[in-house]
Parts: sequence; C-alpha cells; structure tokens
Amino acid sequence: MKRVLIIGSGISGLTCAVETAMAGNCAVLVSPYPSERAQSVMAAGGINAVVPNGDNGDSIDLHVRETLDGGCRIAGERTVTGLCTDAPHILTWLEGLGVVFTRNADGSLARRAFGGQSRKRTAYAGASTGKQIVTALVQEARKWECAGRITRRLGLQFHSALIEDGVCSGALFYDETAKRLEPLYADAVVFATGGQNRLFGKTTGSALCDGYAAGQLFLQGAKLKNLEFIQYHPTTIETPQKRMLITEGARGDGGRLYYMENGRRVYFMEEKYGEKGNLMPRDIVSKCIYDAPSQVYLDIAFLGEQKIKENLREVYDLCREYLGLDVTKESIPVAPSVHFFMGGLAVDIKHRTNICNLYAVGECASIYHGANRLGGNSLLAAVYSGRVAARDIAQVSPTPSHANFESYIREQNEKLSARTATKSRFSAVYIQNDLAKIMNEDLGIVRTEEKLHDGIQNLQFYLSIVEKLKYDSEISPYQAYSLRPMLCLGLAVLTCAAERRETRGAHIRTDFPQRADNMATCTLIDYNNGAFDVTYRNEDELCW
Ligand SMILES: Cc1cc2nc3c(=O)[nH]c(=O)nc-3n(C[C@H](O)[C@H](O)[C@H](O)COP(=O)(O)OP(=O)(O)OC[C@H]3O[C@@H](n4cnc5c(N)ncnc54)[C@H](O)[C@@H]3O)c2cc1C
Repeated sequence: MKRVLIIGSGISGLTCAVETAMAGNCAVLVSPYPSERAQSVMAAGGINAVVPNGDNGDSIDLHVRETLDGGCRIAGERTVTGLCTDAPHILTWLEGLGVVFTRNADGSLARRAFGGQSRKRTAYAGASTGKQIVTALVQEARKWECAGRITRRLGLQFHSALIEDGVCSGALFYDETAKRLEPLYADAVVFATGGQNRLFGKTTGSALCDGYAAGQLFLQGAKLKNLEFIQYHPTTIETPQKRMLITEGARGDGGRLYYMENGRRVYFMEEKYGEKGNLMPRDIVSKCIYDAPSQVYLDIAFLGEQKIKENLREVYDLCREYLGLDVTKESIPVAPSVHFFMGGLAVDIKHRTNICNLYAVGECASIYHGANRLGGNSLLAAVYSGRVAARDIAQVSPTPSHANFESYIREQNEKLSARTATKSRFSAVYIQNDLAKIMNEDLGIVRTEEKLHDGIQNLQFYLSIVEKLKYDSEISPYQAYSLRPMLCLGLAVLTCAAERRETRGAHIRTDFPQRADNMATCTLIDYNNGAFDVTYRNEDELCW
C-alpha cells in the first residue's frame, strides 16, 4: 500500500484523497485550516459538463473546442479532451456523493450559460456549488478516515519539499502548535494549494492561497508555466477586506452591462458583440470595462425579485451588505479584479511535475485553461485533476530515494529559532505589502515593457536584501520564511509577462497589441542558480 501526502484540502486535495483511498492506498491530507475554509467553498456559479444526448445541441467536442478557443489556442487538445470527456461522469459521481444540483420542474438538470460558451453547460447547486461539493467530499473523506485510509492533519503550513537528486520523498511543515518543523515522508506528494491571490493583495479569492508553495518549489527545481496569464473577473465590487465577486451566473441568467452617456444607457458589450455580448470570455469583457469612459454597471433588476432570490441569492445579499443596494431595484457598480491564475506548477497530462514522485492538482497546477479560463471549468479541473493524479500514483512504482534529510531539518529548525530584530528600514511586512502593490500596478489588465521592467527591478532589489530580513523576530515564522519564495514567484510572473511580446487572452500588451502566430505555445520558467530561464513548449508534448 502506498502512502500519498496531499498538501491542501480544497476540492482538488479532497478529491485526490478520496480517489487515493478508493484505489487502495493511504492518503495523508494536510492543511493549515479545515476544508470548510478553503477557497473552493466560495465558488457559487457552477461546474461545466455536457449532458450526453441532451436536447440543446451540446457535445463534448463543442466543450473541447470552446475551452481551447476561450484559452486562445495554447492549451493542449489532448489534455482538454480528457477533461471534457470525463465531465459528465464527474457530475454523476458528485451527485452520488450527495451534491444537490438544481433541477428544472421536469426533473432535468438545470443549466446556465457562462462566458465563452454557446450552449447552457454549467450545472449549479443553488448559489453554493463549491460549498456543496466540499461538504459532500468531506463526508466521503470521513468514511475513509474511519477505514484508516485517509488521515487528516490540520495546523501544518508547508515549508519545503524533501527533494534530493530530482526525487521527492516528502515535505517539511511548520507546526503552529509545536512551533517546530515536522517532516512527513511519502511515496508520492501531491500539491493542491490553490492560486496565488495574496501575491496580489486584494483579489476575489482567499488570502490563504498565497502562491508560496509554487514559489518554494520553483526554488527547489520545479518548473512553472504560463504565469503571465492572470484572469481578471469582469464584475467585482469593492469591500474593506477584498474584492467580492458578482458571479458570471448573473450575466448567464440575463444580466446586462452598461455605462451612462448623456443621460442614456450604453449597452457597450451588446453594441460591440451582439446578443451574446455580455457573455464574451472574461478577458474580453474585462478589457472592455477597462476601456469604458465612465463607471460600468450591471443590471439584473429586470430578472425580478423571485428569480434573483432563488438563483442569485449571494449577489442579492452581498450588494445589500456591502453597498447598501437593492439589486431587485438598482444596478450594481462593477469593476474587474484579479480572480484566477491560469499559470502555476507545470504538469503533464498525468499531473506529474518535472520532479519524480511530485504531482500538482487544482488551481496550483497550470493546465487546461491556456491564456484564459472559461467560467465553470476550474471546479471541473479541480475534481478531474485530483482523480487523474491519484490514479496515476496507484499505477506507477514510486522512484526510490535513499536520501537522509536529518541535517537539513535540523538546520532549518535552527534558522527559525534564530530570528532577530531587524534594524533595516525595510521590514518583511513592508516588503510583502509593496510586493502586492508592484504586482497590481506593474502587471495590471494592460501591460507595457516599461512598467514590467520597473517591477522586475524593484523585486530584484528586494531579493538582494531579503536574506538579512528573513528571520525577523517581529513577524511569524511563516511570514519570515515565505518572503523570499514569494518575491521569486513575483519576479517569475513579471519575467514571463515581459518575455511574451504579444497580446493573447488575459495577457494584454499595449506595446505588442497583436497575437503573434509563432507564440501559440506555453511558457515554461526554470530557476537555475539565480537565473530565471524562459522556454516555450506545446502543452500536449509536456512529459518528464
Ligand atoms: C469567489 C470565487 C468564485 C468562484 N466561482 C467558481 C465557479 O463558479 N466555478 C468554477 O469552476 N470555479 C470558480 N472559482 C474558482 C474555483 O473555486 C477554484 O479554482 C477551485 O475551487 C480551486 O480549488 P483547489 O482545490 O485547487 O484550491 P483551494 O480550494 O484554494 O484549496 C487550497 C488548499 O491549500 C491550502 N494551502 C494553501 N497554501 C498552503 C500552504 N502553504 N501549506 C499548506 N496548505 C496550504 C489551503 O488552506 C486550502 O486547503 C471561483 C473562485 C473564487 C475566488
């Protein structure tokens, strides 16, 4: 029986744990907080899957084509076909676990239209799809816990992977209670740590997803991919802590975007793109809102109070709580905000990284979404990828390692306890806040060579001084040791964006406004003794 260490307990980590147990292996599922606090619970809009032999002319081929087109033709056809083909089975599996997807009066599955899709393909569970999927998976995980096949460990924050000679045999965690580092060894290690939200400060996502794991693994030899493709969700609202999402389901159900000009409403998306204008892919809608001459509003009032309260309850509640606005009567002022990361750890079709025994699943892995993700495809990818990784681990023999990490672990523990007060005017907290500011201002919806190079220079400066601040006693150990990897991740993102001299999907360059035919490939970035090396490859050809 193999022992599989899974880091992160959102939908992708939970699925991987359940599938590992079902395959007859043992999963150790680790996270600092319970699954109920993972970003996955925020997903409200829905999950994509074609109903086989449905009556709306939809097909798996169409799902594949629209995912590839939405991603601007850089995702792999083979990888995307695997995702879309398994989607109907995933929906059936989730229903079997207890997810109550909304149904029509005749008993058929209710569907809504999401951006970039020509058919209603998105199934939803009221206004709480993510929460319901997490709840069902947690229940299933509990059953396997009783059978001794899943062990859940909380309060552990990832520190570093235990890698020698390109082979991973476990990971080191900071234990919040014991205030020490603890190693966990395994035959395979799966990263399911979500996106990179905190790198950008205020986003629609959870600050628990900070990108640290990707940054640390990058420094330890893992390749990262497509980092420049960062999705701005077109419709978000400002709140004190974060940007709150107005789900694409609001436009899927008929919501219309407009701005005011000379006292009249201009439905600019419909004027430019016709009837389906409000549901163009997110990169296009965000850029149009960015270009609008005045504040953009989303109108859903005409849908009527009953439909809004039934299908878009969270939009109604959010706007009332944060804006004091009644969406059954008034329009919502919206603006784009950082939402999803198409980039992350580079994986092949089996979700293996370039390091032996090391996998990545869910939003921390870069695959399927190309330069722009379609709404509803990431919950699907989270479940699918967890299954794919667990099944591959069950089939292959782990690469053996005879490495001994005792002295490394002792050294790292000593480093953490040797924290001292810094005399520098730059504290770790100051740098962390400035990092978020640089990422927001120098990357943005629209990018230029000049701004990207400003960002690169600023982060290079911080990296040159960070070692002296790293173990500052005024901050938590995690804040201290996470700073350098986060700066490196930020620098890698900026480097990939500077190197891609074209406009494609969510990567919009004013100095290179056209799509370049010779750039229809994925970006890979490697860390080699301080150098950041960028290369380009086809997604379907990735294989380590
Ligand atoms: C507001 C919002 C609405 C969305 N709506 C939809 C939707 O309707 N449809 C759709 O398809 N997608 C949607 N998405 C995207 C989708 O929810 C996510 O892509 C998906 O849930 C990611 O799941 P995951 O398992 O990869 O990561 P997460 O759910 O983010 O889980 C990450 C896990 O890793 C842990 N972790 C993080 N860092 C560390 C560390 N250093 N050490 C140890 N553990 C760590 C976290 O605690 C957590 O347990 C939405 C996203 C947001 C923000």
